[in-house]
Amino acid sequence: MRVVMKFGGSSLATADLIKHCATLVKQHTDRNEVVVVCSASGDTTDDLLQLVETARRGRSEEVEHRLSAIEEHHLGLLDAVADERVREETAETLKQWLRELRRAVLGILYLREATPRSTDYVLSFGEKFSTLVMAGALNSLGVKAQYLDGGEAGIVTDSNFGEAAPLIEVTRLNIRRRIGRMLDEGITPVVTGFIATNEEGVITTLGRGGSDYTATILASSLPADEVWLWSDVDGLMTANPKLIPNAVVIKKISYNEAIEMALFGAKGLHPRALEPVMAAQIPVRIKNTFNPSAEGTLICDTSEKTASPVKAVLLVNDTAMLTVKGPSMVGEPGTAAKILETLYHAGINVMMISQSISESSISLIIKRRHLDKAVTAIEKSLLGTRIVASVEPEEDVVVVAVVGEGMKGTPGVASKVFGAVASCGINIRMIAQGSSELNISFVVKENDGPEAVKAIHDEYKLGKPSA
Ligand code: ASP
Ligand code: MG
Repeated sequence: MRVVMKFGGSSLATADLIKHCATLVKQHTDRNEVVVVCSASGDTTDDLLQLVETARRGRSEEVEHRLSAIEEHHLGLLDAVADERVREETAETLKQWLRELRRAVLGILYLREATPRSTDYVLSFGEKFSTLVMAGALNSLGVKAQYLDGGEAGIVTDSNFGEAAPLIEVTRLNIRRRIGRMLDEGITPVVTGFIATNEEGVITTLGRGGSDYTATILASSLPADEVWLWSDVDGLMTANPKLIPNAVVIKKISYNEAIEMALFGAKGLHPRALEPVMAAQIPVRIKNTFNPSAEGTLICDTSEKTASPVKAVLLVNDTAMLTVKGPSMVGEPGTAAKILETLYHAGINVMMISQSISESSISLIIKRRHLDKAVTAIEKSLLGTRIVASVEPEEDVVVVAVVGEGMKGTPGVASKVFGAVASCGINIRMIAQGSSELNISFVVKENDGPEAVKAIHDEYKLGKPSA
C-alpha cells in the first residue's frame, strides 16, 4: 500500500513527540510506501507571524528575543532526535536556514514593512525546520528518508501569497516524476506541508492549516491508496465533546459531510484539503498520534445509509447577525446584491443568508469581530437610500449546524430538529438549508447554543448511550 502520512503541529511539538511520530512511520515503511508531510512544530507558525509583526513595528529587542527562542527550540529538537552521524550531516543545514530566517526578519525590521510575499517566506521556515528534524529522526531510526520542500516535491502555485492555489496539472506531473521516482528507489520522501513555490520559484503558502492540503495534493497526484492525517484528536466527532460529554468519534463519513464539517470549523481539517482526494476517490483517515491504536475517522465515498440521517451537530461561535430591513426591498431586484457587494468591499465574508418570501428583510450571519465594520459599511453606503430603512445588529448569537448526507430526501428531519429545540423552549432566530440538503443551519441566542446542540444530539441518539 502507498500512504501519505501528515503530522500536525501538536504531534511535532517536542523532541519526544517527533521521535514517537518517526516510530509510527517506521512501523509502516517495511511493508508500505510512505510519503511523510510535516506541519511546523507546535505553534511555530503563530510564533513566526508574531515575529513578523514585531519586526514590522520596529521592536528590535523583542525581535531578538523571539528569534532566539525559535533558534533554540529547533536546534534543541535536532539535537535530541538525531544520532551523531545525522546530526553532523544536518546541523549545518539547519544553522544555515536559521541564518536565512534571521536575515529576512532583519530586513523587515529595517524597512518596517512586511508584504504577503515576505511573510510567506518567513512562515516557510516553520515547516522547513520541523521537516528537516523529522527526516533526521527517521534517518536515525534507519529509515532511508529524504527531505524535500513543497516546491522541490513539485507543488507549483499561483502568486496569491498567503493563500496560494496549486496549478494542478503541472503539479501532478512534477510530483509523479519526482516523488514517484524516490518511492521506486525505496526512499521515504519527507515533505514540508503548507509551503510551495510559484512559477518563478518564489516561496508561497497554501493558507493556514495547509499541510493537510499538501498531503492530499501529493496523494491525488501519485496516486496513493490512502491519506492519514495524524493529529491530536481521535477523529471527527458527533459534537464538540467539551459541550456534549457523550459525543463519539464518527467511524465513517462521506467527503461531502467532512467538507461541510471542515467549513464549520470542526477541528483537524483544511476546508479545501478534501477536493483533490474526493475527485481521485482516495480515502482519508484521521488518526490520533497520542492514541495510535484507535481506528479514527475514515473519510471516503460512502453512500451507505446509517441509522441516523444526521451525522454531527456543530456549534459555530463568534458569529453575529445583521438584519437589513426596508419596505422598498420588496420586489426590487438587486437588493441582496447591493448589500452583499457593500460587505464584500468592506472585506467581510457572509457566512449565512436568509430572506423570507415577503422580501421585506434579509438576515445575514458574519464573524462577530466584523460586526461594527459591517454596520458602518451598510450605514454609509445604503442607509437612507430608497431601499434600506434600517440595519439591526445582534451580537450574541451562534449558529447550530446539523450535518448529514442522509437528510437528503428524508422527510421530517427539519420537524424533528426544530421540534427537539422547541421542546427546550429555545427560540430560533433564523434558518437556512441549502438545496444540497447536506446541512440545516439555524441561529439561536448564544446562551441557548449548547442546549440546542444537546437536544438534537439526544434526539438522534448520536452519543454514547448512558450506562
Ligand atoms: N503550520 C501551518 C499552520 O499552522 C500549516 C499547518 O499546520 O497545516 O497553519
Ligand atoms: Mg500548525
